[in-house]
Amino acid sequence: MLFGTLLFSLFLQFSTSSFIFKNTFNIPSADLNKISYFLESEYNKLKEKWNIRQEKKIEIFFCATTDDFVWKTKSNRRTGAVYTGNKIYLQPLKFLKQRNILYDVLRHELIHAVMVGGNNKQMPKWFHEAFAIYESGEQKRIKKKVSLKFNSLAELESFSNSANYNIMETSYYYLGITMQYLITEYGEKSISSVITDRNLSFEESLFMATGESFPTFEKKIIKHLSGY
Ligand SMILES: [Zn+2]
Repeated sequence: MLFGTLLFSLFLQFSTSSFIFKNTFNIPSADLNKISYFLESEYNKLKEKWNIRQEKKIEIFFCATTDDFVWKTKSNRRTGAVYTGNKIYLQPLKFLKQRNILYDVLRHELIHAVMVGGNNKQMPKWFHEAFAIYESGEQKRIKKKVSLKFNSLAELESFSNSANYNIMETSYYYLGITMQYLITEYGEKSISSVITDRNLSFEESLFMATGESFPTFEKKIIKHLSGY
C-alpha cells in the first residue's frame, strides 16, 4: 500500500484495469480503494448482464470543490456526478457522502459510460437516461414531484435538464418507468441487443428487437405513462 500511496502523491493519478482516477491528491487511499473496487465489480456485473463491451478505460475525475464541478460539467450545484467525454466528474467526496449518494451516482454514471463505450452510437438520450435510472436501482428513491405534460419521449427527457430539481426528478421518475415497461414487455435480451448493436440505427435495432416501428412503440409507452 505504501507504494500505491507514493504513486498517488507523485502523479495525482491512479489506475486499475478499467479506470483511471484523476486529481486524487485529497482523496484518502481507503476511499480510493473502496471506490475503485466498487467500480470494477459493478463494471464486470454490467458487462456480463448486458453483454456490453468497453474499449477504453473510463476516467474518474475528483473535483476538489463544487464550483470546480459546476464549471467543468456546466451542471447544477445539486447534481452529484456527470459523465461526459469518457470522463465521470464527481462532486467533492464530502458532498456525496453527506447526501449518502456516492455509490448511487457512481453506478449511474458508470452505466452511461459503458453504454457509450463501443456500443450502439445512436441511442437517443431518453433511452440512455431511462436505462441508467432503471439499471442503477435509483428508481426506488425517485418520486413524482410535479405533473408533467409530454407528447414524446424526447420531450420527456428534455425535462431532465431543468434547473428545477422537482421537474428533473419527475422526468427521471417517468424515464425509470419507461425502461421498466420495455423490459417487462420485450425482455432483457431485446434491450441488450438494442444497446450492443453496432450496425443498425437505433430505430432499426429497436424494430429488430421488438417488431414495432418507433412511432407505434412511442405511442404505446406514452399511453402507459399517462397512467402514472
Ligand atoms: Zn444520467
